[in-house]
Amino acid sequence: MAGDVIDGKAFAGALRERIGTGAAAFAEQAGRKAGLAVVLVGDDPASQVYVASKGKATVAAGMESFEHRLPADVDQPALEELVRRLNADPAVDGILVQLPLPRHLDDKAVIALIDPAKDVDGLTDANIAALANQQPGLFPCTPFGCMMLLQDRLGDLSGLDAVVIGRSQLVGRPMAQLLVNANATVTIAHSRTRDLADVVRRADIVVAAVGRPEMVRGDWIKPGACVIDVGINRLDPEPGAAKGRLVGDVAFEEARAVAGAITPVPGGVGPMTIAVLLRNTLVAAHRNAGISVPA
Ligand code: NDP
Repeated sequence: MAGDVIDGKAFAGALRERIGTGAAAFAEQAGRKAGLAVVLVGDDPASQVYVASKGKATVAAGMESFEHRLPADVDQPALEELVRRLNADPAVDGILVQLPLPRHLDDKAVIALIDPAKDVDGLTDANIAALANQQPGLFPCTPFGCMMLLQDRLGDLSGLDAVVIGRSQLVGRPMAQLLVNANATVTIAHSRTRDLADVVRRADIVVAAVGRPEMVRGDWIKPGACVIDVGINRLDPEPGAAKGRLVGDVAFEEARAVAGAITPVPGGVGPMTIAVLLRNTLVAAHRNAGISVPA
C-alpha cells in the first residue's frame, strides 16, 4: 500500500488561521499590529514572487507588511543603513532580507547587523547559538516547518534514525540540530557522503534538502519511513509548455510506494515556510513588546 501524502498546504492553512487569531489578540493587547519588514534587492523574478507572497500572507494574518525594494546596484552602506533603520523602528518586529543578494554585496555582514530579536529567518549567530544551546530564539522557518510536520505525523521522535541530506545554513544544518534537540539519532549527508543510498536506507526519517531534481530514489527508502522533501526544482518545459514542472529532490511516486508518509512538491514543505515566518514574526512581536508568548 502506498504511503500517506502529508498535506503541508492544509497544515499550513490551519497554522495561519491560529496565527491570525494570535495576531488579533496581540494587536488588542499591544495597541499596534505586529510588523514584518522584507528587504528585496534587485529584480530576480523568483525572489519577487516570494516577497510578494510573503507580503500578502502577512497582511492576511492581520499583521503589518513593510516592503523595501532596493535597486540591484545598491551599495553595501545603503543596504546596511536600511537594516539599522529597521532595527530601530518599533513598528518592525521581524526583518527578513531576501537571499541571495547580488554578488557585489556581503550577505554575511548584512545578516550580522540584524537585531537577533527581529531575525525571523534565524540566521544570526545569536539565534544559531540559541538553537545549539536549546534556548529560546528564532529558528529558520523551513526546518522548523519540517519539524512541525514530522511531529504531527510521528509524535515523539526520540531514538528514531534521521538522515538530513544537505548541510546549508538555511536548511540542512538547523534541520539536523532541531532533530537532535528532539532526541533523534541524526546523520548529516552532503555531496562528499559515500554510499548515500545505503545511508538513507537506514533512516526512519529522511529530509532531502539538496536542490537536485528527483535524486532520492524509491529503493533508497526504508519501508515505512517518513520522507520530507524540501527541494524545489523546476524541470525544463515539455514541448509546447510555457513552464517546466516543479519537482522535489525525491522521486515522489517511487518513494511513496515504499514510505509510510511523504510530502509532495508543491504543497508540502513550501507552504509551511511562509506560515512559520508569520509565526516567528508574531513570537518576536510578543517578546519585543514584553508580552508573554501564548503557548
Ligand atoms: P544549498 O545549495 O545551499 O545546499 C545544498 C546541499 O546539498 C549542500 O549541502 C550540498 O552538499 C548538498 N548536495 C549537493 N549535491 C549533493 C549530492 N549529489 N549528494 C548529496 N548531497 C548533495 O541549498 P539549500 O539548502 O538552500 O536548498 C536545498 C533545496 O531546498 C533547494 O532545492 C531549494 O530550492 C529548496 N528550498 C526550499 C524551501 C522551501 O520553502 N520549500 C526553502 C529553502 C530551500 P555540499 O555542502 O557538500 O556542497
